[in-house]
Amino acid sequence: MPRKPLIAANWKMYKTPAQAQEFTRNFLPLVANHTRDEIVLCPSFTSLSVVIAAVTGSGVAVGAQNMHFADEGAYTGETSPLMLKAIGATHVILGHSERRQYFGETDEIINKKLKTALQHGLIPIVCVGEVLAEREAGKTDEVLLRQTRGVLAGITSAEAAPIVIAYEPVWAIGTGKTATPQIASDAHKVIRGEVAKLLGPAVAEAMRILYGGSVKPDNATALMSETEIDGGLVGGASLDPQSFAKIVNY
Ligand code: PEP
Repeated sequence: MPRKPLIAANWKMYKTPAQAQEFTRNFLPLVANHTRDEIVLCPSFTSLSVVIAAVTGSGVAVGAQNMHFADEGAYTGETSPLMLKAIGATHVILGHSERRQYFGETDEIINKKLKTALQHGLIPIVCVGEVLAEREAGKTDEVLLRQTRGVLAGITSAEAAPIVIAYEPVWAIGTGKTATPQIASDAHKVIRGEVAKLLGPAVAEAMRILYGGSVKPDNATALMSETEIDGGLVGGASLDPQSFAKIVNY
């Protein structure tokens, strides 16, 4: 079975609810008949409900950019998977490099979040990727193997089907530097090989691995044409409806 590509917009900490609504109004007509890829918009928490209401009936899905691993509790400022489910979010980005870098998220925390996301039927988009110093030191594969093992620890083959991995080399995020299709493809092979060891070849073959890092309308075709690349996680270029639609319609 071919893997259905997934293209997700990570709006980070941009857009008020009114701006998010304006985006969807302009974006949806541009992807009205699009069935090739799964399209997911990930606004900030305050815009989730507005965007979920706006995409109803369109085939476009909505995800959160983060969540807590507990169902509920005394965790001021956090949002639980139950809350996301209750408003109709279907996807969640976990372990984005900005969460790792600025909020101290470790593979262990991301692994806990992944387990709860699966328990609650949210489709997790789990991010892995090396920083520039690691790439320059020739440690990319080592980092990808460590992160893949860490985030997938204790997950069984039976429950792994919904998991989506996003390979996001940190040096390419928001920098305008994109991994070449070859670099991305090589990294995806490393990740898929490790998933095969951990969860079996059938799970690895079916698992979608996205590329993220300065995906733009002018490089989307080259990246998405790689058989190893099953879609994209798009930051900056997803903030504008025309630009994101061009990427989706590569
Ligand atoms: C991201 O935020 O996941 C991302 C890849 O950002 P950008 O496309 O801006 O590099």
